[in-house]
Amino acid sequence: MPDDEFPFAAEGSRLLPMAARVLLDGAVADLEFDYAIPAALDGVAPGSRVKVPLRQRTVTGTVLMVYPAAEAEVPKLKPLLGLLSERVMIPPALMEFGKWISEYYCAPLESVMRAMLPEAVREEKHGEKRRLFVRLLREPSAEEHAALAKKAPKQAEVLLLLQLGGPALPAADFSGAALKGLREKAWVEITEEAVARDPFEGERFISTKALSLNQAQHDALVAVLEAVREPLQAKPLLLFGVTGSGKTEVYLQAAHRVLEQGRSVLVLVPEISLTPQTVERFKSRFADMQDRVAVLHSHLGQGERFDEWHRIQRGQARIVIGARSALFAPLDELGLIIVDEEHEGSYKQEQPPRYQARDAAVVRARLEGCAILLGSATPALESWHNAQRGKYDLLRLPERADDAKLPLVRIIDMRTEKKRAAKGSPAILSERLRMAIDQRLSKGEQTILFLNRRGFASSVVCQACGHVVKCLHCEIAMTVHRELGRLVCHVCGFQKLAPQKCPECKDPAILLAGYGTERVEETLRKVFPVARIARVDADSMSQKNTLRDTLHAFKTGKLDLLVGTQMIAKGLHFPNVTLVGILNADMGLHIPDFRAGERTFSLLTQVAGRAGRGELMGEVVVQSFTPHHPSIQFARQHDYEGFSVQELEFRRQCGYPPYGHAVLVTVRSERENLAEFTLKTLHAKLAKSFPPEILLGEPAPSPLVKSHDQYRFQILIRARQARQITEPLMAALGALKMPKEVIATVDVDPVNLG
Ligand code: ADP
Ligand code: ZN
Repeated sequence: MPDDEFPFAAEGSRLLPMAARVLLDGAVADLEFDYAIPAALDGVAPGSRVKVPLRQRTVTGTVLMVYPAAEAEVPKLKPLLGLLSERVMIPPALMEFGKWISEYYCAPLESVMRAMLPEAVREEKHGEKRRLFVRLLREPSAEEHAALAKKAPKQAEVLLLLQLGGPALPAADFSGAALKGLREKAWVEITEEAVARDPFEGERFISTKALSLNQAQHDALVAVLEAVREPLQAKPLLLFGVTGSGKTEVYLQAAHRVLEQGRSVLVLVPEISLTPQTVERFKSRFADMQDRVAVLHSHLGQGERFDEWHRIQRGQARIVIGARSALFAPLDELGLIIVDEEHEGSYKQEQPPRYQARDAAVVRARLEGCAILLGSATPALESWHNAQRGKYDLLRLPERADDAKLPLVRIIDMRTEKKRAAKGSPAILSERLRMAIDQRLSKGEQTILFLNRRGFASSVVCQACGHVVKCLHCEIAMTVHRELGRLVCHVCGFQKLAPQKCPECKDPAILLAGYGTERVEETLRKVFPVARIARVDADSMSQKNTLRDTLHAFKTGKLDLLVGTQMIAKGLHFPNVTLVGILNADMGLHIPDFRAGERTFSLLTQVAGRAGRGELMGEVVVQSFTPHHPSIQFARQHDYEGFSVQELEFRRQCGYPPYGHAVLVTVRSERENLAEFTLKTLHAKLAKSFPPEILLGEPAPSPLVKSHDQYRFQILIRARQARQITEPLMAALGALKMPKEVIATVDVDPVNLG
């Protein structure tokens, strides 16, 4: 191949033909090949998306690096076939970030690329949405206008609207005949233009003004702006502020200042559809520059995702609000990354690449050279520990911003209530809670009841033989969904009809044990027949806008009582809610996970924070079977720091994170013996090769031992640094002859312990 077909890179005085290393799409393990860059494609750079030949086929991939072709190991490289897009799709800092994610979390680089380039963008098949626009070609004078108004009033009206609102308006807004007339007279032209699909179409955001900050907020803002100015000197910032202390106001004002400086802002929030209020607050504050705000969440259609992504990539959207995966938004000139509710478990991605978005955001900020702000009322102990040992700087908002008092929290001992409940039916409402709701109803105040389980009953139990109906595919009891008229597995979604008698002993005495949101709703309707009640959970809110509509109805006083799952636990702000009931506070407490206590504490604190956010004093009623548990007692006192002291002491003694890192290895297979045997073999190898400072756990069945027809066994490994574990572990896994029906997964810094 003659040299002049290659682009040339200057190296000293010589010009060299270049080659590209390409990571192919779609392979299970990473496949990288080198190709020559033909002269026509000299725009190819790391992060370009390209078409390449592979055997007899054409496949797509991402360029990882570009280097002088002379250094290629193979003398004659095949040339690249083409570019998928003129633009470099992954900017250099993101590319480096992707490599870090892949290494640290032991994930194939290809899986990281897939996370960075959403499917809608990769496939390019969605393209832009096009629409007809009518455009004014020249301004009519007053006389011309008057003349037209006499002959063709409809046409004159269109001209006027174009003069006022123009120069181009959607053609669909006008009568076809009027447009035709205007076009014939050469007043207007009609063109097809690309429009962004706006997921918020039809909604109006009223511009809100910055509030004047209180002293603590002011100090926090100053510290954030200082970090924005000198990001290389600054540490990551942890904003610790009780619920309602005005953290969001600090985010908004900081973001505004960064945008004014011409830089961009990334805001991560826990699964955004759960917190429409947060998005609304951002959209409203930046209402006069709305096209600069992009929102990324899992309910976007493919087309909407395509548009939002390209708006960000072209630099049009300068502030991105999104859930976990927005971590990879292709913003350039980042000034600030904000992670709201940074303690949330949903920041962890449970599929490869299994990254923790909050921790990874800290790394992205370092690579991009920008400031990072983590905020929470109940910081993750990992973040808190980092602040304690000086890796992060701590900012505090100790009081509620709106002068409201923290609510009064009462703990109800359900062991005594249980005795009062009718035989065979669960104790759902304690007498204390029933009275409290009654009072609110008579005063016209509102109540939220929280329960983290959907469905009607948590299981079907035979009273004669004790048999529990389990999922065919998972080792877990099936939940009764009465509205659906079926039993549902909450792990894999499998459904079946409820049995009329015990499937084992044929006794008809089957009991619906436990309760979920459906049953609570039913009880409430019986006990408070005149109250206006709505239920908010994944079953009742499956339509796109029902959540927003229900919350709106509640906010405007059209409902008295809201019962729901974690969908109502976070970030909601209703001034007229003076009572929050937490129905079974212990639910998450007794699972085999060292974070169970932390999760319970933070959930109680967050839910309690929904009460009394206006001028009225709030009350929280917590129903519990273990009322003296420290997680419940500290939450009752709103005492995060007290909780953290004792919880950290427990973690330190046991060597759990944040004292060091953990890695969870899970082996799964449809064949139980095979999974167990493979894990034991791996364990034996690791026991030989690991140095003593690595704590190698025993192989054991996962807490959920069977899921989706797969048996699962696991080992938890702990050490000071994750790399101390992952390097030898990946080597051992690579050397292990894994039977075909067995899959091993490695989860670094796991959140869900199986
Ligand atoms: P957080 O994000 O910490 O839960 P928010 O930002 O939602 O707190 O603030 C709680 C309430 O206090 C909101 O209604 C907000 O408008 C109000 N607020 C925040 N900052 C101020 C302030 N400086 N002055 C008056 N009200 C404020
Ligand atoms: Zn199942």
